[in-house]
Amino acid sequence: MKKEVTEFALYGGKKVFDTFRTTTNMVPPNADIFFKYAKRSFDERQLTNSGSNLRQLENELANFHEVKHCICVSSGFSALMLVVKRLALNNKKEVVIPSLAYRSTADIIEWAGYVPHFCDVDYETRTVTVDTLLKCINENTALIVVPHPMVTLANIDELEAFAKEVHIPLVFDSVEAFGATYKGKKLGGYGLAEIFSMHASKVLNACEGGYITTNDDELAKDLKKMRSFGFCARDKVDILGFNMKLNEFHAAMALSGLHMLEEQLAFNKALFKEYQRLLSSIPGIEVIPYSETEKRNWKTCLVKLTDKWKLSQELTLKLLNAENINARPYYFPLLHKKYITNNDDYSKLFNSEKLSNEYMILPFGYSMKLEDVPLIAETLLSIYNLSEEILKQDIKNEKNS
Ligand SMILES: *Cc1c(COP(=O)(O)O)cnc(C)c1O
Repeated sequence: MKKEVTEFALYGGKKVFDTFRTTTNMVPPNADIFFKYAKRSFDERQLTNSGSNLRQLENELANFHEVKHCICVSSGFSALMLVVKRLALNNKKEVVIPSLAYRSTADIIEWAGYVPHFCDVDYETRTVTVDTLLKCINENTALIVVPHPMVTLANIDELEAFAKEVHIPLVFDSVEAFGATYKGKKLGGYGLAEIFSMHASKVLNACEGGYITTNDDELAKDLKKMRSFGFCARDKVDILGFNMKLNEFHAAMALSGLHMLEEQLAFNKALFKEYQRLLSSIPGIEVIPYSETEKRNWKTCLVKLTDKWKLSQELTLKLLNAENINARPYYFPLLHKKYITNNDDYSKLFNSEKLSNEYMILPFGYSMKLEDVPLIAETLLSIYNLSEEILKQDIKNEKNS
């Protein structure tokens, strides 16, 4: 417990941790199981192009998500890019996404040949809703992409009904919600398609990789062609293709990750509960809870800094990061900031602006042990107790710099 401002590492004190505690998952699978799958592709002399590992992975993931089709690709980025390319209405130009979202979402839309149109999110749920969509769909809207926010889910029923009514295709970026259920049914089959990532920082780690889930046979067939140059038969192409295949070794990583998924989620839940227990008594910090009745991956400790918290999110993060507590802001920067535009709608993304300064995520994943949580909680409590002094110190430092 720090009792003086000078005990914070930011002001010259000793760091709480010698090494980084980060927010990235990076959980490696069991090496022996990985080598078993990797050896299979050596033995079969098939390193890529849908060998046994990839086919098994697609089957296992389709079962896991309770859908007909899973199409694996090289990344979550390429999964969304293929989906936009194939599903956005091609006589229209704009793809609607929230500004408060994963950092590359707008780039993905541009790579697919469309223009991002940024919408706001609801303040309470941090997600796209019918109300926030109504303010930005128009005669030029080609597709709506709804990402599930961290920890909670978007209102899927309401969004699907709306998309149907306005005849605009709807897809979900379900990366954050991997493994979750909605009204008891696994995510994977909602909207026209859902996309997932298997980057090393996600729950299911293939080093790099991603996939699309859908119940639409035609869509699945086209996506399989598109990820592999557009080939429909030997030397024959009938659709615009790319090279976005997932190779056998990345598939082997993901297969071995699936073996230990339950174990990983149990650890996540224990870690989350420990955070929840220890942070509940700190004024100004509110842990966003996971649903206790639905399936969840428990992979993130998302906290809100309320009115009782006297420091800005920026200064709070600076203090924590100096201690090797690598807490991060919640989706930063807002995506629309990158666009020089005369669309003054963007000055009205009030909720997104507000939310991006009120939330942060705390360390989770491979670098964290249960016994690290009390040290993080203690540090936050010290910050709270010393906030007046910290603010004075901060003003002094600003003047001297
Ligand atoms: C990580 C992520 C992606 C992109 O996945 P990559 O495999 O890293 O390309 C897309 N959406 C969300 C919400 C993500 O967190």
